Amino acid sequence: MATPRLEIDLAKLHHNAHQLAQHLAARGISLTGVTKVALGSSEVAQTLLAAGVHSLGDSRIENIERMRRAAKEATLILLRTPLMSQVERVVAHADISFNSELAVIANLSEAAVRQDRIHRIVLMVELGDLREGLAPEDLTATAQRALELPNIALTGIGTNLACFGGVKPDLQNMALLSDLATSLEQELGIDLTLVSGGNSANIDWLEGCRDTGRVNHLRLGEAIFLGRETLRRTPIDGLFTDAVTLVAEVIESKVKSSAPSGQICQDAFGDTPAFADRGLIDRAILGLGRQDVDVSGLRPDAEDLQILGSSSDHVIVESSRGLLRIGEELMFHLSYGALLAAMTSPYVDKVFLPEQARCGIRCQR
Ligand SMILES: *Cc1c(COP(=O)(O)O)cnc(C)c1O
Repeated sequence: MATPRLEIDLAKLHHNAHQLAQHLAARGISLTGVTKVALGSSEVAQTLLAAGVHSLGDSRIENIERMRRAAKEATLILLRTPLMSQVERVVAHADISFNSELAVIANLSEAAVRQDRIHRIVLMVELGDLREGLAPEDLTATAQRALELPNIALTGIGTNLACFGGVKPDLQNMALLSDLATSLEQELGIDLTLVSGGNSANIDWLEGCRDTGRVNHLRLGEAIFLGRETLRRTPIDGLFTDAVTLVAEVIESKVKSSAPSGQICQDAFGDTPAFADRGLIDRAILGLGRQDVDVSGLRPDAEDLQILGSSSDHVIVESSRGLLRIGEELMFHLSYGALLAAMTSPYVDKVFLPEQARCGIRCQR
């Protein structure tokens, strides 16, 4: 098989999504599977839908469009506030979009009228993290203006924490979101279907609180793909953390010094490296580099391998199990950032391992 490649184990992905969907459902919370690391892959979309997620969410309209072709009936949510230049596509392919600007909602309304569709929106509220969202005091007025726009339906409110400012979803900010939902409903005489509390950083809050209040929706990406919450990257009980792995191959393997020799200046990326002299070591070079992946987000699957550094097209590894074989394949676990970069790299092959039940010849590794 070609390398470098991402191996996406659909059976493990199914398991993770199914476990989370069941767990959340028991608390009255519906789950949107966030697919933005998957480039709109139809395999991933269908796997998550079969696992019982309520809907699929993505931040890119291109991915939404790709998933729409694979899943005609699914509810698709655009998670990033729509670009003005993309409102026609958003109305055509996304059922719901998350919004924080009235000017955008006005354009969505015009596009929805032209296309004779109803477009549903969720208004995002800023609760401290300082990424997207309306100030809580502006919520009612904005919602009122949005309700006056033709072909726009206000389906809910939401917030996003722990992304830019690293703010933890806690009892206070989640209670505030609940209160905002209730007061908005009372002031405007409406019903909100979705009160969307957040992302994989909300798992701690969910486990630690008895009453989730009005929050009835979460959007999970990393928890599904990498099996962990995102405040401390703790693995979630019962989930696979290796549903997606990266495989690279050895292109040089030699005993060399642990420290460079000669005058040390800047490396390829403008850093001045410092290496301790530990004598001779077993080194290997992999056919993988910073054009393919964020190397700082890689962790070797084996304890006797250590990444020493990287350049555009090389990753240097130290082996304490002896010299590696040329052509030998090594497996790595990825951070969410590394996964995002590898998925987006045209140099990295994406291999979907079929679910067991459908396992045919392609399954043999
Ligand atoms: C990316 C994203 C998510 C999913 O975040 P994870 O940490 O991967 O769970 C949820 N909501 C919004 C608005 C996002 O952009």
